[in-house]
This record gives sequence, structure tokens and C-alpha cells, in this order.
Amino acid sequence: PYADPAAGAAVKATDRAHVFHSWSAQGLIDPLAVAGAEGAYFWDYDGNRYLDFTSGLVFTNIGYQHPAVVAAIQEQAGRLTTFAPAFAIEARSEAARMIAERTPGDLDKIFFTNGGAEAVENAVRMARVHTGRTKVLSAYRSYHGATSTAINLTGDPRRWASDTGSAGVVRFWAPFLYRSPFYASTEAEECARALRHLEDTLAFEGPSTVAAVVLETVPGTAGIMPPPPGYLAGVREICDRYGIVFVLDEVMAGFGRTGRWFAADHDEVVPDLMTFAKGVNSGYVPLGGVAINAEIAATFETRPYPGGLTYSGHPLACAAAVATLRVMEEERTVEAAAHLGEHVLGPGLRELAERHPSVGEVRGLGAFWALELVRDRETREPLVPYNATGEANAPMAAFGAACRKNGLWPFINMNRTHVVPACNITEEEAKEGLAALDTALFAADEHTVE
Ligand code: PLP
Repeated sequence: PYADPAAGAAVKATDRAHVFHSWSAQGLIDPLAVAGAEGAYFWDYDGNRYLDFTSGLVFTNIGYQHPAVVAAIQEQAGRLTTFAPAFAIEARSEAARMIAERTPGDLDKIFFTNGGAEAVENAVRMARVHTGRTKVLSAYRSYHGATSTAINLTGDPRRWASDTGSAGVVRFWAPFLYRSPFYASTEAEECARALRHLEDTLAFEGPSTVAAVVLETVPGTAGIMPPPPGYLAGVREICDRYGIVFVLDEVMAGFGRTGRWFAADHDEVVPDLMTFAKGVNSGYVPLGGVAINAEIAATFETRPYPGGLTYSGHPLACAAAVATLRVMEEERTVEAAAHLGEHVLGPGLRELAERHPSVGEVRGLGAFWALELVRDRETREPLVPYNATGEANAPMAAFGAACRKNGLWPFINMNRTHVVPACNITEEEAKEGLAALDTALFAADEHTVE
């Protein structure tokens, strides 16, 4: 294995002196110095290699350093590295065409952004201008990004510090049977009650004041909760009835993650606007966007769209998207994710749940899974309290340390670990990760009541 501890120490020291990191108390973090990555693995400067069960922040859907995408970025850099957004550029046109070809229904126009939050900001802006209304509904247990509107739409505690009570955002409860806000005991009941709750929320907010309902098709960071059958179709119907724009946020769930091109494809639901980022080019160069349906696109045919970005549709990012989508087509990455979920991760994780009392629920699909860790399977009391820090979070910290000790880099959020590897990992790699999880879960089991 590669090792150069002195070089690693220098990288780390400069980072600590000058890099200000996301979401962190700067004096309390200890970022790992990473020397390189390839496929499903990355390695540090001290001779340690990790199997990445996080795909970065759930974005390297085709793994690290795919040679075809690296070559496409190099080729584009040699030809035309950058250009202003108002011009027609081959890489941009082709990326938009290929994305539109894959997005459902009549979502055929693409507005490019630099990432997910900007995609959400612009989707909301489009909905507001299109409807002439201002209010926007979003779900508790959601994440939509860290910019002003996106963070206010977000339903996790990262919102609190930036919460201006803002700008017409109203939150409601989306379905989640394991911790049902509606005290439901079946998926059908959860679905019906969740739709009724949305109807009631709208009735009291005044449907004619609501521009958009924004939902993650499958909420990701909040816990990977595939909606019960019929829920998304029900929301679609409610939005249609009141002339409300239905925005599906597929920043995390899109581009193969769930075993279909888009999570909405599972339910054959077509939103009015769909946001994307991450998997569109596996995060090799920052890129996000909004896919726009015909009706909303028509609004802006003769009326200028009041929004824009210097780097909208950056040639390097778009060339990376074109190459990524070609790779995914040629290597059948979406089918690989579906196979991984049905035949490897799903069965493997359910087997872990049988052996480990700390696993309260296994849920997910494709390369998109969550283990809900609990102190008590009966009461479903989480292994650590909601938003726990420090000593209260020690059981999850111990679980994370045990994973890393076993060569697995885990995704951890509150009392959950998410199993979100590259969509194209081999069965062998997936099994290596499952074995590491198996060992690490004993650290969580120690904190259960059983
Ligand atoms: N929407 C969803 C569903 C996400 O998961 C994320 C990021 O994790 C975002 C939006 C924000 O994307 P970005 O961090 O690229 O701004």
C-alpha cells in the first residue's frame, strides 16, 4: 500500500491552517488526508485503504477516477475549458439533450447550476414566477441544500441556525412508516393518512397561495425512506387539482442511485420540475440543474427568466456529464445498481439485521440503503437521541470507528448508517463491505437493551 506519512502530515497541517470546512466547529475536526482514490476505494498517506460506502456525499455513482470521464474532462480542457453561459456550446447542448432524453415525461428543458442547492433555489423561483404565488411546502425529514431558500425548505437540524422562518416556507410530514407521524401500521394506511395530512395542510394554508410542493422522491440524508406505493401519485393529483407546481428533488436519488435513471420512474410519476446534481457526472466537476416541463418552459418563452449563474452549464462539467452518461449506458450502471440492491445489498443487510439487535430496520433500494440503529427493537428507541452530540452520540461514534478500523468508510447520520456505495461496485466489494459492517455492528449491539 501507498505510504508517505510526512506528505500526509503536511497536507493536513496546511488544511488546518487555512481550510474552513462545511458544517464543522473548525477547532474540533480532524480531517483525514486523502492521497488518492480509484473505483470504490480511496486511501490515505499512512498505508490505509478504505472501501467507500458513502460515494463521497452520495455522488460518485460510477466510482472514482473512471478513465473515460477523466479523459473527457482532459479533452474538453484542451479544446474549450470555459465559456460564458449565453452561448451555444457543444458540451452543454449535448449534456442537456442527454439529460432530457432520460428525465421522465415532458421534462425536456434543462437549466444548469453548479450544484443541488442552486437547483432547488431556481426550481422554487421558476414555480413562484410561473404561478404568481409565493408559499412553498416541504417535508420534515428532508435535505434540500444550504443556500437561503434551500436550507429553509430543509427539514433537518442543520436548518435551525439559518431558519428565518422564511420566505413562505411551510413544512409538513411525509410518510415514514417505521416512525409514522400518523400512527399508521400499514403502508396503505400511512399513504392515505399522509395524503390527507397534506390536503389538510393545504386547506388551512390556502391552496391558492401555494406555488410549489417540494419533495425528495426518496428522502436521502433524512433516512432513505422510499414512499409507500401511491403516495407520489397522490401528491401529483393534489398538485394538479390546485394548480401547484410539483417539484421532485432527485439531487441524491437521481442518475441510477435507486436502480432506475430517476427514483420517480419507479412510480411512473412525472413532476413539473425535477432538480438534479451529484450523479449527473458523479461529481467529477460541480454540476446541477433543473429539468423543466413544457408548461413551465412555455412561461419563459417570451418572458425573461429572472435568474442566472456565471457558470451555468460550464463546459468542463457538461463534458463530464456527457461522458458519465455514456459510461452508464455502456456499462449498464443503472441495471447494476438494481441488481446490487435486489441480490446483494438487500439480502445481505437483512441478514445483518437478523444477527444484530441494534438493527431496527433495513430499508432502501438499488445502491441506496439505510440501517436504522436502535437501543430497543420493541420501542424503536434510536441508538442515540435525535441530533445528539458529544457523549450522547458515543455509540454511533464507536460504530463509525469500528467500521473504519475494518477498512470501511461509513456514512453516518444521527442513529443511522447509510449504505450508499458506487452503483457499479462488484459483488465481491459489496460483500467485503457487508463483512466489515457485520463486525462493526457488535460495537452498536453493546448499547442495546437486549
Ligand atoms: N437536495 C438533496 C436531495 C440533497 O441530497 C442535497 C445534498 O446532499 C442537496 C439538495 C444540496 O446539494 P448541494 O450540496 O450540491 O448544494
